[in-house]
Amino acid sequence: MLDNLTERLSKVVKTLRGQARLTEDNIQEAMREVRMALLEADVALPVVKDFIARVKEKAVGQEVIGSLSPGQALVGVVHDELKALMGGTHTGLDLAAQPPAVILRAGLQGAGKTTTTGKLGKLLGERMKKKVLAVSTDVYRPAAIEQLKTVAGQAGIEFFPSAIEQKPVDIALAALDYARRHYFDVLLVDTAGRLAIDEAMMAEIQALHAAVRPVETLFVVDAMLGQDAVNTARAFNEALPLTGVVLTKLDGDARGGAALSVRHVTGKPLKFAGVGEKLSGLEEFHPERMASRILGMGDILGLVEEARRGVDEDKARAFAQKLKTGKGFDLNDFKEQIAQMRSMGGIGAMLDKLPAQFAQAAGKLQGGTEEKAIGRIEGIINSMTPQERSKPDILKASRKRRIAAGAGVTVQEVNRLLNQFEQTQKMMKQFSKGGMQKMMRGLKGMLPGGMMR
Ligand code: GDP
Ligand code: MG
Repeated sequence: MLDNLTERLSKVVKTLRGQARLTEDNIQEAMREVRMALLEADVALPVVKDFIARVKEKAVGQEVIGSLSPGQALVGVVHDELKALMGGTHTGLDLAAQPPAVILRAGLQGAGKTTTTGKLGKLLGERMKKKVLAVSTDVYRPAAIEQLKTVAGQAGIEFFPSAIEQKPVDIALAALDYARRHYFDVLLVDTAGRLAIDEAMMAEIQALHAAVRPVETLFVVDAMLGQDAVNTARAFNEALPLTGVVLTKLDGDARGGAALSVRHVTGKPLKFAGVGEKLSGLEEFHPERMASRILGMGDILGLVEEARRGVDEDKARAFAQKLKTGKGFDLNDFKEQIAQMRSMGGIGAMLDKLPAQFAQAAGKLQGGTEEKAIGRIEGIINSMTPQERSKPDILKASRKRRIAAGAGVTVQEVNRLLNQFEQTQKMMKQFSKGGMQKMMRGLKGMLPGGMMR
């Protein structure tokens, strides 16, 4: 998939060399390549525009970390944004309903609805040990009901018979009733394919939806359709409260446009990918993995990850050194420390990671108030110039007033922060002379109720 994008990006990696920073200028050519590749992959134009803008915004000004080349760094950004474009994280099936949980399938003819019904049945039955019933409401093609029967047999799930003389809603309700009385966990409702422009057919699936009240309404779409997939997705999304998308035939020579656009256009998660005609050909859709596959640069992405990890480690090491000696600890470090604390899930979470006796010494500090306080502190430090951060001594009244105005706080609050910083510095010196105990006592005095308010 998207071989083209992969190829173009490999070129980018080679051409962008030797610069320490990504700038509007040096990524321009590269972004043109990415844009072309996406368009050729049949990604919808608004999606491409949005994507390019986001990558630019993230990339420009970014330092090229560690041993990476600028091109590699840019690939890292593109990867992250591809992942975000496809929804960021994997969203699974929601079966939290009074059983039977009904899963309704919608989509065009030939999209793979019946096949996907079988695949899902197999997955739910074999892997998740659910008792599954499948029913077809496709009364327009005699072979369709027969097809589901065969597929259900292969999947090892139960099949609820229906006939072409029946009405789709009646069939679905009869199946639901049967499923209830026989304690099925899941009812899979297969439907006839329909064109979005066919109003009668759209009304029918809306009626089906209203009758069986599915917990999942999955839109099944053929990845080979490219742009058209996006248009149908939009129409179905407007007609039905879709809960997710299944992208089929990703094993084929799909150019990938659908995978990249559908989420953006519908706002609904891609939950599964069909990757073969066999019933085992269904995968959970993971944006992260798909992004890596699209880029096809496992080696470079590995490097990017390593470099990022390396930076975190370097920072941690340098910080530990300062922490040990108390030397050179300035407001930049203070801010860094706060940010790290926050990324570790707040003070509460950090204390959980400390050995028991220290956590005890620090007392119970959980609660929402410190989060807010931390935000204000960050605001104040952000309003300082780098020089002020490294030499807080130069902060006299007028500078303090400017900083307070910039951060939207009072001068007293700025003073309080400086005070607090001084204490921390002192504390760290004590720490270096001996005694985690002392440090923790100091820490306890600093936290909410005390100086942070
Ligand atoms: P429906 O009309 O939406 O029910 O579509 P079907 O389930 O009958 O599938 C239409 C065709 O697509 C069949 O020939 C399937 O074997 C094929 N198909 C469905 N899903 C996949 C898939 O993920 N990969 C491949 N290669 N073929 C698929
Ligand atoms: Mg079918």
